Amino acid sequence: MSATIQAHAAMATSVQVSNKRRPTIEWQVCGHCNYDCSYCIQSRKFRQGHPADEEITSFLEFFSALPGTWEIKMSGGEPFSFRGFMDKVVPGLAETHHDVSVLTNFSAPLPTLRRFVKLVGHKLKVFSASLHLEYANAEEFACKAATFKSWLAPGTDFVVNNVLVPGTVQGLEAVRETILSAGLKYFPQVMKTKTGTFSYDAEEQIAVRRLVGISPGPHDANVAPSYRGRLCWTGVEYFTLSQWGDAYSCRTAKRYSEGYLGNVLDGSFRLRREPRACAYDICPCTVPANRGMIEGVGAALEAGE
Ligand code: SF4
Ligand code: SF4
Repeated sequence: MSATIQAHAAMATSVQVSNKRRPTIEWQVCGHCNYDCSYCIQSRKFRQGHPADEEITSFLEFFSALPGTWEIKMSGGEPFSFRGFMDKVVPGLAETHHDVSVLTNFSAPLPTLRRFVKLVGHKLKVFSASLHLEYANAEEFACKAATFKSWLAPGTDFVVNNVLVPGTVQGLEAVRETILSAGLKYFPQVMKTKTGTFSYDAEEQIAVRRLVGISPGPHDANVAPSYRGRLCWTGVEYFTLSQWGDAYSCRTAKRYSEGYLGNVLDGSFRLRREPRACAYDICPCTVPANRGMIEGVGAALEAGE
């Protein structure tokens, strides 16, 4: 193991983590995706690339040297879409002392997914499978997901994400029924834009409300609320990590080119020591809320994104 990465990881986390909050890293393992959804919030320019084998080794060294148990939640792009994910990333993480979660478009074949479950076993906390109806059929997806779910340990949450794509919302109640009938958790996500959430027309707003419910919490739906002014522990016990090793306190901070914590591969990474008041009008991702990072919101994880 590189002594530099080991030393910096230890220094970077000299802050004591709390029992109530669940320390979490959201690692965008790669940019590459095998889908090209018309509503993808990631521009094609950034939806490409993946770490080389030696970079994966450096990431794994950083994680191995990171004190405390963190949940490493992997996303992309599509993590399963590049060879190094199953060949190096997953076996390497399985050897660390951390937990693992993944957000995927669930296009990987079942034998690959079976191997994934065998490798990570009880370390797997949340498996989030996104249903993209431009590429997948809801019935086939639900059938595959039910088979997959039967392989999971009792402590693993399985959730089906579904973006409420404008122009399709009226038909999504039937999709939700298909998912629920297969014994799966359905997690609707309102459509986000670069600056906020999409303004649905009056008719679709009613359907959106039926899908997300009245006053949904972060376990029920992603409606990208504002938590401006609340104390937030992102940057202290949570951070996002790019495929290039750059760490930011949260996704919104990164969008505004703020909250940079350094790079985990060059030794410049440092966590903050204290929480800060949220300065943003949108919190686009439910992970910080569901890991107890935001004052007065969510709590310990049950199920969610
Ligand atoms: S699967 Fe996800 S990352 Fe890939 S194109 Fe669709 S929305 Fe974008
Ligand atoms: S509340 Fe949300 S947007 Fe605000 S700092 Fe925390 S994670 Fe970022």
